[in-house]
Amino acid sequence: MYAGAKAIFYALSHSSVLKRLASRHGLATPSSFASRFIAGETIEAAIEASTRLQAQGLLVTLDHLGERVRTLEESTAAALNYVRLLDAIVAAGIDRNISLKLTQLGIDIDHATCVDNLRRILEPASRHDCFVRIDMENSPYTVRTLTIFETLWQQDYRNVGVALQAYLRRTEDDVRRMNELGARVRLVKGAYKEPAATAYKDKKDVDAAFLRLAQLLLDEGHYPAIATHDPVLLDAVRAYATERGLAQNRFEFQMLYGIRRDLQASLVAAGFRVRVYVPFGREWFPYFMRRLGERPANVAFVLRSLLAER
Ligand SMILES: Cc1cc2nc3c(=O)[nH]c(=O)nc-3n(C[C@H](O)[C@H](O)[C@H](O)COP(=O)(O)OP(=O)(O)OC[C@H]3O[C@@H](n4cnc5c(N)ncnc54)[C@H](O)[C@@H]3O)c2cc1C
Repeated sequence: MYAGAKAIFYALSHSSVLKRLASRHGLATPSSFASRFIAGETIEAAIEASTRLQAQGLLVTLDHLGERVRTLEESTAAALNYVRLLDAIVAAGIDRNISLKLTQLGIDIDHATCVDNLRRILEPASRHDCFVRIDMENSPYTVRTLTIFETLWQQDYRNVGVALQAYLRRTEDDVRRMNELGARVRLVKGAYKEPAATAYKDKKDVDAAFLRLAQLLLDEGHYPAIATHDPVLLDAVRAYATERGLAQNRFEFQMLYGIRRDLQASLVAAGFRVRVYVPFGREWFPYFMRRLGERPANVAFVLRSLLAER
C-alpha cells in the first residue's frame, strides 16, 4: 500500500490533463482543495502565510515551486524569481531561509547552467545571511545534486545545505560525508518512486533507517534538520536528544505546510525549534500530488472540498 499509492500518484503527477484541471480549481479560493498544502501562487501570499506561522512561534523556509525545467530561459527565470523572493523576504523581515530544486535551475540542461543559476542565488543569499537548502529529488539526480553541492561548498559558500533521503540505501555514506564537511543536512524519508535496488520499500525499513541516520546526525552533524511528521520517530528523536543531553537549539524539526499542525504546535510548546516548509507558486501540481500519494486519506479531503464548493 505504502509503495503502491506513491507509485500511482507519482504517475498521475505527470498528467498534463489533470494538471490543467487542478490548476484551474485548486487554489481558486482560500478554501479550495490545494490551499491546505500550498501557501498561494504569489510571493505576497507566501510572505503572508509565513508571517502567520512565525506569529505562532514557528520558523519557515520558502519554496518557490518548480521542477523539471527544460530550457535555459525557464531556468534563468527560476533563478531570478528566487532573487526576487530573497528581496521580499528581507523587506518583510521574516526568516531568511529558502528551499529549491536543481531540476528547477537547469540540471537537465547541463551542469554549468545549474551551477551558474545556483550561484546567482547563493551570492545575494550570503550577502543577506540567508540559508539555502537544496531539496533532494529522485535517484537519477542524487549524485549530480551532491556533486553540485560540493562544487559550491569548495568555492566557500557556507550558507547552503542539502536534503538526504533515509529510504536510499546509499544515504548513510552521504550523511557521513556531509558530517565530515561540516555541512547542514535535512533528513527526510524520501518522496519519490524508487526501485528496490536503490531504496528500501517497506515502511519499517525506511523508519529504521531514518532513526539510525537521525541519531548519526545528532551525534556528529552540524545543526541537522529532522524533517518528518511521524509521531513515533519524533518521540524517538526527542528521547535520543535528551539521553545525549543535546540542547534544543542544536537541531531543528521540520514539517510541511498544512501537515500535522497539531504536532508543529506541540513541539513549539515543548521548546523545540520547528521550521515549516512553505511551498508557493503556480507550479504546485507535482508537489501536491506527492502529498496525496503519501496519505491516500488526503484524496477524501480533496473530494470533500470539491463537493463543498459546488
Ligand atoms: C520539511 C520537509 C522537507 C522535505 N523535503 C524533501 C526532499 O527534499 N526530498 C524528498 O524526497 N522528500 C522531502 N520531503 C518529504 C518526505 O520525504 C516525506 O515524503 C514526507 O515527509 C512524508 O513522510 P513522513 O516522514 O512524514 O512519514 P510518513 O510515514 O509518510 O507519515 C507519518 C505521519 O505523518 C502524517 N503525514 C505524512 N504525510 C502526510 C501528508 N501528505 N498529508 C497528511 N498527513 C501526512 C500522517 O499522520 C502520517 O501517519 C520533505 C518533508 C519535509 C517535512
